[in-house]
Amino acid sequence: MIESAQTKPLVGISSCLLGQQVRFDGGHKKDGWITGPLAEFFDYVPVCPEVAIGLGVPRPTIHLVGDPERPRAVGSRDPSLDVTSRLESFARQQVPLLGEISGYILKSKSPSCGMARVPVTSDKGMPAKVGVGIYARVLMERKPLLPVEEDGRLNDAVLRENFVTRVYVLHRWQQLRAGRLTAAKLIDFHSRQKYLVMAHSQAAYQRLGQMLAHLKQVDLEAVADMYAAELMTALARRVTRRRHVNVLHHVMGYLKDHIDAGDKAELIASIEAYRREEVALVVPMTLLRHHLRRHPDPYMQQQVYLAPHPEKLALRGAI
Ligand code: SF4
Repeated sequence: MIESAQTKPLVGISSCLLGQQVRFDGGHKKDGWITGPLAEFFDYVPVCPEVAIGLGVPRPTIHLVGDPERPRAVGSRDPSLDVTSRLESFARQQVPLLGEISGYILKSKSPSCGMARVPVTSDKGMPAKVGVGIYARVLMERKPLLPVEEDGRLNDAVLRENFVTRVYVLHRWQQLRAGRLTAAKLIDFHSRQKYLVMAHSQAAYQRLGQMLAHLKQVDLEAVADMYAAELMTALARRVTRRRHVNVLHHVMGYLKDHIDAGDKAELIASIEAYRREEVALVVPMTLLRHHLRRHPDPYMQQQVYLAPHPEKLALRGAI
């Protein structure tokens, strides 16, 4: 659980979201949640690719043109200003220098930083399709397992909770990989994630279990790499209420011999209220954790699912 993550996750971020005045017009796009509550738990690594390649502040605006799959970044007024390769080579140099980051928050719609749906104009000047910012594309190609989100999407409570969960899981994984890997450590890590993975994907839960079923005479490093790829892919899936309800019932199963009929009925009622969207996930979760504290079960208490991120962020009060 959170207590085992001893250091704050390091998270890359578009500098303007922190309030740095690096935008083309000398302004910023400071985000209150990112610089407020979230900053207490994440250490940020700010990067402004356009300033880094020497475009200066203020500067002429750029936009994406051409093939939406591989657009170029050119001046909005002066198409002869093509900064595509400068942005790409900066990204290729910068990404390895970011350190052991566990996530990245990008500025939406930027021709450099946007992770999706950035307008791409056709060569004939028509607003045609959407694509990915030049820096963001290189970042995501070089770090395919990295949780990446945009400021706008983080206003969606489910995406927000999912992003923070993935950052913490990757952070704990990086801590595990920083030491000498053993089969026992890998199995212990997996057993803590089980219910969390189950909420995201039953199929991935089974595949991960099979992956670790026979760890004698295997290349442990190779298995670990496969495991991380499958795990992070599974966690990127949006969790539905139905899936949470399923896992809540599994957790409740551990309590069935310890709580009386009244407590059981109360728990079921709170899970059903959550299913009907009358209460947030935090309601049945708090009740379950209360009973697990009174009737400790070592296996259940280590489950990341019960506390995947700091309670103070109150992320499960909004989903
Ligand atoms: S969106 Fe990216 S390139 Fe644009 S100002 Fe922000 S950090 Fe700089």
